[in-house]
Amino acid sequence: MAKRINLKAVPRDALLRFTEEAGLPGFRAGQLVHWIYEKYASDISEITEFSKALRSALAGLAYISNLRLASRLRSSDGTEKFLFSLEDEETIESVLIPDEDRLTLCISSQVGCAMGCKFCLTGKLGLIRNLKAFEIVDQVIAVNRLILPRRITNIVLMGMGEPLSNLGEVAEALWRITGYMGISKRRITLSTAGLVPGMVLLAQKAPEVNLAVSLNASTDRERDEIMPVNKRYPLKTLLAACRKFPLRPGRKITFEYVLISGVNDSVDDAARLAKLMRGLRCKINVIPLNPHSESGLKRPSDRTVLEFQKVLVGSGLTALIRESKGQDILAACGQLRADYPKKGS
Ligand code: SAH
Ligand code: SF4
Repeated sequence: MAKRINLKAVPRDALLRFTEEAGLPGFRAGQLVHWIYEKYASDISEITEFSKALRSALAGLAYISNLRLASRLRSSDGTEKFLFSLEDEETIESVLIPDEDRLTLCISSQVGCAMGCKFCLTGKLGLIRNLKAFEIVDQVIAVNRLILPRRITNIVLMGMGEPLSNLGEVAEALWRITGYMGISKRRITLSTAGLVPGMVLLAQKAPEVNLAVSLNASTDRERDEIMPVNKRYPLKTLLAACRKFPLRPGRKITFEYVLISGVNDSVDDAARLAKLMRGLRCKINVIPLNPHSESGLKRPSDRTVLEFQKVLVGSGLTALIRESKGQDILAACGQLRADYPKKGS
């Protein structure tokens, strides 16, 4: 028997070809999309709109893959962390963050990350592999299925991985999340460590998706130290690309600035940062470091954090302090690290 195909792994333009080759009328492709992406069918047998005979014929040719839920942890602040196993037994994490009328899912784009930022646990893993588009979308499908009747309203690509290092798969995933699952581009934010060519391509491949840039330093010397990517794309190059990034009216670029004690948290840093932001439509998220034992880096005092913010606000910038949620379940920014032992190893 020929190998059965995974319907979630079929690129969007190939689904119609699949139904044609299976001898089915074209409208079946639309029905498959509806059942997989809107009704979250986890098996062909669940597609009750199809006759039993059709379901069984289809099951001979194809299947629907699913992320396997390995654990689900709930934080005291309402944040939930989902650990998923993939078909090759690698694991990834997604974090659900309820906030007033929003339900934001923070999704992963890679297993591990090659960027090696000093403060980040995912970076410590190195890059294990890129996720496929269906593995990225499936985080949204799987969590929606688990939280019914609630539905995810916003997506941030701020989980494990550098999304612009895997832009082909990420762009296909974003297309399905918007086109098939109906989440508006305005409600999606992609965060990058600052891969300049990827930012240019993002604007072409996934226009209108919000951009967040992890800046984290006010000088090249500081940034080189904590984010090796800065040696390839230093601040001047990065900020020039931000200035050129096409923004719709009323939209802004978010700059994330992780505050690390004694590294990048002085009032001079804040003043330099304010200067760097000149002429940019932006807002700044000031994130006190979530320390982890492997880096030796420390979180600044609350007073330092407030003083840093005060300088930014005093310069006319929008700057919010973002305490990352889910700290008690290791779901906060930079704490994701799915290195649970592989099955069988
Ligand atoms: N690779 C992308 C997206 C994933 S990281 C990027 O770097 O932007 C998401 C955010 O978590 C980034 O802004 C990063 O600076 C932040 N982060 C990483 N480690 C952190 C830590 N230990 N404490 C606080 N924020 C952290
Ligand atoms: Fe990768 Fe982002 Fe972590 Fe840097 S902060 S290592 S780019 S996930």
